[in-house]
Amino acid sequence: MAEKIKSYWIKLNKKLLIILAAAIILLLFMKFPTYKALSIFNSINNNIVVIDPGHGGIDGGAGSRNDILEKDINLQIGAKLKKELMVEGFEVIMTREEDISLENFSNIKASRYRRDLDARKSIINNNKPLAFVSIHCNASKKTTARGIKIYYYPESIEGEKLAESISQSIDENFYKSYMKEENLRTEILTEDFFILRETDYPGALVEVGFLTNPEENRLLRDDDYQWQIARAIKKGILRYLQ
Ligand SMILES: [Zn+2]
Repeated sequence: MAEKIKSYWIKLNKKLLIILAAAIILLLFMKFPTYKALSIFNSINNNIVVIDPGHGGIDGGAGSRNDILEKDINLQIGAKLKKELMVEGFEVIMTREEDISLENFSNIKASRYRRDLDARKSIINNNKPLAFVSIHCNASKKTTARGIKIYYYPESIEGEKLAESISQSIDENFYKSYMKEENLRTEILTEDFFILRETDYPGALVEVGFLTNPEENRLLRDDDYQWQIARAIKKGILRYLQ
């Protein structure tokens, strides 16, 4: 009789163990949604980088029509960054390669501006890149405001790493080596930008300079200046991926 009770308990314990194990596995899946696990897995197996030149088409961004528009500078630097990354063997996806806005590529019911951003988000998430970089130009009421600023999403550890790598690279390869400026440094900032918040991959937004600063406005049109910024951003991406 005692033996029977013993073996019954062992059987019950086995059942309990199986139920417990199943519960733990279930909890793990609930805590780490499969799409996150999938995106990490896929990232390791590709060599895609997405470049997102801000604005385009009807949306000129900062600047004025009789002067120069942000959308054009963003695309010119983005195209140079693409060439630089392709030389390194990356597959490069651009959110736009022409002077267009992207609202027609989004199905959500929202403003034109938000649909444009939603389309960019989809391009980034669908391509599962190792990293992505949005390129913009800055503007300020103060014409003395200048410099390159790099943004990442506050809660993104990978975004922060990417922003820091790009920042270090621009400080060394652009400000110090090319501009011969010992005192100029990039600024790293966090911001709740849609494109950084709504994407599942490491990203940074680079404001390459102020169009409202007369000196930077002149320099940002310069082909060589644009190449040097693109090269420094590329080296920052490479540093991040090492
Ligand atoms: Zn912009």
